[in-house]
Amino acid sequence: MLKERTFETHLAVLIVGAGPTGLTLACELARRGVSFRLIEAVPGPQPGSRGKGIQPRTLEVFDNLGIVDRVMANGRMAMPMRSTAPDGVVKEIVTEGLGDRPDMPYTATLITPEWRVEEALRLRLMELGGTVEFGTKFSSFDQADESVAASVVKEGVTETIHARWLVGCDGGHSIVRKQAGISFEGETREEVRMIVADVEVDGLDRDAWHLWSHREGMFALCPLPSTNLFQFQAGIAPTDDPELSLANMQTILERLSGRTDIRLREPVWSSLWRANIRLVDRYREGRVFLAGDAAHIHSPAGGQGMNTGIQDAHNLGWKLAAVAEGAPEALLDSYEAERRPVAVGVLALSNARLKEATEQRSMVTRRDASTMQLGIGYRDSVLARDDRDDTAPLRAGDRAPDATGLTTFEGDRRLFDLTRGGRFTLVNFGATAPPEALPADVNVLKVRQQLEAPEDLLDSEGHLSRAYGATARSLVLIRPDGYIALISDTGDVSDVSDYLSMMA
Ligand SMILES: Cc1cc2nc3c(=O)[nH]c(=O)nc-3n(C[C@H](O)[C@H](O)[C@H](O)COP(=O)(O)OP(=O)(O)OC[C@H]3O[C@@H](n4cnc5c(N)ncnc54)[C@H](O)[C@@H]3O)c2cc1C
Repeated sequence: MLKERTFETHLAVLIVGAGPTGLTLACELARRGVSFRLIEAVPGPQPGSRGKGIQPRTLEVFDNLGIVDRVMANGRMAMPMRSTAPDGVVKEIVTEGLGDRPDMPYTATLITPEWRVEEALRLRLMELGGTVEFGTKFSSFDQADESVAASVVKEGVTETIHARWLVGCDGGHSIVRKQAGISFEGETREEVRMIVADVEVDGLDRDAWHLWSHREGMFALCPLPSTNLFQFQAGIAPTDDPELSLANMQTILERLSGRTDIRLREPVWSSLWRANIRLVDRYREGRVFLAGDAAHIHSPAGGQGMNTGIQDAHNLGWKLAAVAEGAPEALLDSYEAERRPVAVGVLALSNARLKEATEQRSMVTRRDASTMQLGIGYRDSVLARDDRDDTAPLRAGDRAPDATGLTTFEGDRRLFDLTRGGRFTLVNFGATAPPEALPADVNVLKVRQQLEAPEDLLDSEGHLSRAYGATARSLVLIRPDGYIALISDTGDVSDVSDYLSMMA
């Protein structure tokens, strides 16, 4: 029989699930000093390469969180692909990404195992003073006007945790979602299945992601950087044996690739994936929110799932922190308004890629701007304000572009170096009466002709003014998650003060 321990813990946020989404949210709250607990059902870090494609926009999030170097050290950018057609013709596909750009620090997809991403986030969380409570399972909640009471079980003891908000980052089978009565509309396609495993491979080089197309289904072996493993991916027909044994996987390899010289060793992790394509009808029920796979699941085609979850957390984190510190609760409504349309787009993209892959019997090798997530924006959001017309290439709500070639007292910098850390940043291109009385934590940058004060910078190569289409009076306010909150080309300082007072 379960023992029961009921003591009240008053905290701002209870996060359920320490996958990439929950860990990102925890880091966002920890770096702003907001109280939270992060509980995780399993006893320790999970193995498995799963989501191995990190998109450029997520790398920007990691840059802002201070972990991009750690993540990239365990990954490989723009992994080439080597594709073998059924007739044996081999094609090399070099994915150069978007090239060298002053407004984008990362222009290609990084391949690294998902557990490495989780490891980097956990380390960052520890540096920020947070921790993951492993072996602690959420079971149910009740919510009242001011708080949520959640029952969690650890080592057979039930604890009731009281928090202002509960965030379910507990994956596709989310119990938080079920308890909140939020429906998960969509379909399960039992006939679309894939064996995924991490395995050592003899007889294959690690220079490229190897793909084979076969009339019975696609097959791929992708070297996993920072390990001696490959990710094995094999589409299997409904009549195929789905057993996750070495013998079955070797048989599938030989049938789909036609290669008997490639030998697998015992897998260190394996999973049978079924196509599940679902999206919640709402991201919030009162004080309970959903993020990541708990809110949207789809096929891995296009490499979007983990990236979307991480960016959900990046969007929600600063808003929860602002409201915890006194901003109006209505700010939290913008989370669903901004992020659900993104998930709708991701489902459409990954469905199209899955259809293409199923028809071609091969993985879709195209890696273009549509999958890199750099075009995501929130122009229609209530949080987007500008005095530009509809034809302007850059509007409030868009991703705030980077810019290289900035000269500061500290040396040469790019804009993202100066916006790191998760605060609002005001870039003043020359408004004559700079806003007075800004909140102390707003990061102010002034574009000048010569350096006079610590916040001054020279736009030495003109990249900043060009990227922002700035006039000599423009004021640009950048949100903590790297999207443009406000642009005033007329340099109206009261716009900035009004906007920020809405967040206080
Ligand atoms: C083969 C494959 C390839 C993929 N490739 C890509 C890719 O290239 N790019 C990409 O972006 N994505 C990819 N994905 C998707 C990616 O793996 C997921 O989208 C990602 O793991 C979702 O992260 P999450 O944190 O939202 O959920 P999860 O990683 O599922 O984490 C949820 C956590 O919640 C915990 N939990 C569950 N219930 C409870 C409870 N009651 N109490 C406490 N804790 C609980 C779980 O133990 C788990 O640790 C791929 C997936 C697969 C299977």
